[in-house]
Amino acid sequence: MTMPSSVKSPLVGFDLCATKIEVAALDDGGGFALRMRQPTPDNYAATIKLFGDLLAEVEAQLGPVDSFGVSACGSLSRRTGMMRNANATFLNGRPFERDLAQASHRKVVLSNDANCLAASEAFDGSAAGAGIVFAVVLGNGCGGGIAINGKIVEGANGIAGEWGHNPVPGTGNPTVGQTRCWCGHANCVEMSSSGAALVQNYRDRTGRDAEADAIIKLMRSGDAVASKIISEWIEHLARNLATIANILDPDVFVFGGSLAYVPEIYSKVPQIMKAHIFGGDWFSRLKPAKWGDSSGVRGAARLTAQAIG
Ligand SMILES: [Zn+2]
Repeated sequence: MTMPSSVKSPLVGFDLCATKIEVAALDDGGGFALRMRQPTPDNYAATIKLFGDLLAEVEAQLGPVDSFGVSACGSLSRRTGMMRNANATFLNGRPFERDLAQASHRKVVLSNDANCLAASEAFDGSAAGAGIVFAVVLGNGCGGGIAINGKIVEGANGIAGEWGHNPVPGTGNPTVGQTRCWCGHANCVEMSSSGAALVQNYRDRTGRDAEADAIIKLMRSGDAVASKIISEWIEHLARNLATIANILDPDVFVFGGSLAYVPEIYSKVPQIMKAHIFGGDWFSRLKPAKWGDSSGVRGAARLTAQAIG
């Protein structure tokens, strides 16, 4: 098969989370040469096999692939090489990057989903060309990743950017100090700034269950409780991001995840942040991810092109 020159050497990335595995190949112009997705299997061996099957399909369509990147909801321990904190829990404690490389006979580079978001958006997304990018995955939890001059910063222990588990002092949130975070610590950022925090606060104050999106809709319709909860959530989010600004001073904060669409993140959070930032002379930008849900797989594809520093 004769391949067009634009897809001769595609960058190939996989995005793995608890529910789906997506593979994509990027052409020279950054467009999608191919995209496929499958449900995530329920066990490790079947997942390794599915990666192989999808890679074979990519090669059948686009020709030989000598390496690929993987965006995972979870990260590798720098010390042991084992996966940890993966929401596809069968990955935890497994040398997933090494096993994928051995099974596929390809070079494999794995990073977490927030790091891949940072790499993707720093390359050709909302933060294209920015020197320091802090990526925020704002959904049920609070993920984070850092790219400096286009390269992911993993950190000495592979935890750079994990702002969601910074401890924060009590700030008036009734759940702070009362509920322990899933990570084992208490008073984590996630407990006041995540979608799960919205849901918990609504339940605490009304006795009713509602998804984060539903609470935001209630706020739009003028519901007083929902409005107060969202207002507090925005305040917490801004304070927690101000700590990032004071330490890392990113040029751009780029938001992915299921709550990245909330307009108040961009209209209200920067003004509140500014009040907590040293010196107050602050002009950084908060922007939604250009590539949305595709940022993980696009960032993964960039991993093999030296996106990790
Ligand atoms: Zn935590």
